Amino acid sequence: MISALLAAGTSCTNTPQGLTSDGGDFVYNDERFADLQMLRYKVEGFEDLTLKQKTFIYYLQEAALYGRDILFDQNGKYNLRIRKMLEDVYVNYEGDREEENFKAMEVYLKRVWFSNGIHHHYGSEKFVPGFSKEWLASQTELTDEIANVIFNPSVLQKRVNLAEGQDLVKTSASNYYENVSQEEAEAFYEKQKAEGDTLHPVMYGMNSRLVKTESGDFIEKKWTTEGLYGAALKKIVENLKLARPYAEDAQQQKVIDLLISYYETGDLSTFDQYSIAWVENTEPLIDFVNGFIECYGDPLGLKCSWESIVNFKDLEATKRTQTLSANAQWFEDNSPVAPAFKKEKVKGISAKVIKAAILGGDLYPSTAIGINLPNSDWVRAEHGSKSVTIGNLTDAYNQAAKGNGMLQEFAFGPEEIELIEKYGDLTDDLHTDLHECLGHGSGKLLEGVDGDSLKAYGSTIEEARADLFALYYLADPKLVELGLLPNAEAYKASYIAQMQNGLLTQLVRINLGNNLEEAHMRNRALIAHWAYEHGKKDNVMELVKRDGKTYVKINDYEKLRGLFGELLAEIQRVKSTGDFKGAQALVETYGVKIDPTIHKEVLDRYKKLNIAPYKGFINPVYTAVRDKDGNITDVTISYSEGYAEQMLRYSKDYATLPLINE
Ligand code: ZN
Repeated sequence: MISALLAAGTSCTNTPQGLTSDGGDFVYNDERFADLQMLRYKVEGFEDLTLKQKTFIYYLQEAALYGRDILFDQNGKYNLRIRKMLEDVYVNYEGDREEENFKAMEVYLKRVWFSNGIHHHYGSEKFVPGFSKEWLASQTELTDEIANVIFNPSVLQKRVNLAEGQDLVKTSASNYYENVSQEEAEAFYEKQKAEGDTLHPVMYGMNSRLVKTESGDFIEKKWTTEGLYGAALKKIVENLKLARPYAEDAQQQKVIDLLISYYETGDLSTFDQYSIAWVENTEPLIDFVNGFIECYGDPLGLKCSWESIVNFKDLEATKRTQTLSANAQWFEDNSPVAPAFKKEKVKGISAKVIKAAILGGDLYPSTAIGINLPNSDWVRAEHGSKSVTIGNLTDAYNQAAKGNGMLQEFAFGPEEIELIEKYGDLTDDLHTDLHECLGHGSGKLLEGVDGDSLKAYGSTIEEARADLFALYYLADPKLVELGLLPNAEAYKASYIAQMQNGLLTQLVRINLGNNLEEAHMRNRALIAHWAYEHGKKDNVMELVKRDGKTYVKINDYEKLRGLFGELLAEIQRVKSTGDFKGAQALVETYGVKIDPTIHKEVLDRYKKLNIAPYKGFINPVYTAVRDKDGNITDVTISYSEGYAEQMLRYSKDYATLPLINE
């Protein structure tokens, strides 16, 4: 499972600094086209790794890049052909590159690269080309079949169709089923499930295309080194084998062996064995995911798309989470919650913070900022899961947003801007750590209370509980004492961020006229509106109007902390006692409805800033330095490759599959 950036509060804690360089010549923002902004991420600490570790990462990132074509073909059966055709036109074009048709084709191709296919990576609708069929036909040999796929809007409309009442398999353009109806696919896998081990079920269907033959038989074309996508998987296996001697410990070598065996056989119980070995392999600094992992691309949620990420632990950030975990009992004992609802013995959870070294397949260029794997339910229940936050990607998002004008537009004045510029990134990270490591793990249910009694309000209340725990403690002198915050002022940045986001800026993601639906967004609104209403009598904060624009002004940070503590105690009571009516009243009163006047104003202000709604990453380039015998003596990293340059290089050097895969 992944957590996408859209779920996180991203907008208002970013600081404007004009240019986005980070002291040196590293630039986070790269080019922008259509609704997309390309970013770069920095792999800080790579240079300090040992040669063995660098070499390990080098071969793993090769294995990550060799899977690219698999995803293109999974996303649609014409994608590889269209990509190749357009790349040829793009590279060989001799006409005026400023000409309208060419420029439109360039944008279309850049979107195809970004989406790993001809459908939008997020909305999954087919791209509408801005160039004409005649123009394209004048540049290349355009068959009727391909012309129809690109230009006919009623053909292959959506990559994944989830509209109720339709045959989701037949109406989805993704390439996981052939000549099969939804009913047939469901029946096929129901039968497999019924006949298999029900206690420890494998993930049926996850690594194959289901095909109905002309004679009416159903066959699974498995994705293995000897089967479908074999050429790509062979290159991946080859590089996993090269990486293996440099693995960090024996357990990690076992992980690689099981993965190779699974790629060679397609055996799903081997995949489960691999997942178990992987989840138990927690010691190494370097870790990686490489495989058929997430199933969001299949309308039935069975077939997994190929992805890879290679990463290593961020030791600094992980130290932060360890400090919090080590003091978990102190935080529990000193919280404003009633003693009956507190845990006598609390265990901190240390979530790992990692740095991505390379992104591949379905994690590239659009990516997740948090990952929790494996996805098999029984493996999770019996062996646990690994939960990671990808620190350097979050950083890149934050840094790239500096200068997008958001903070200047919505902050009350220079004092607020300064606090956020100085401490915003730090308090953001700490907020996440407190929320994840301590907040969710704190408190307890009274005996006999059913964990599901808050029903549809449960997740909003749970998120509010974790956020309030974080907000309350951000202002505690204990954090300065533990060395996690530099002084007693810093926390104010997080209070400004919380209030601005909850009252104003998070509304940019909602269409006018809609309510708040998502739990994290409801929780932020709940906290902000509750604190605003309850602080009125003491003038804790105000909504100030200036030139027709609304600003949040906090007058008394101490009292605001008191309010957060009060609400935390109440929310914990609601949770601990299973008070459904209490939860309903809080969420419905403060967390759902949006004032249409404020909403419109916020949307108008946001629109003027002209910020691209979707972002993705250009990978760094790793180069192996070899001696005359071919031994690797160093691995260098560089960040200078352009977006088109990178995509064209990948299409050339890592092209593994034929254009048609049957
Ligand atoms: Zn949470």
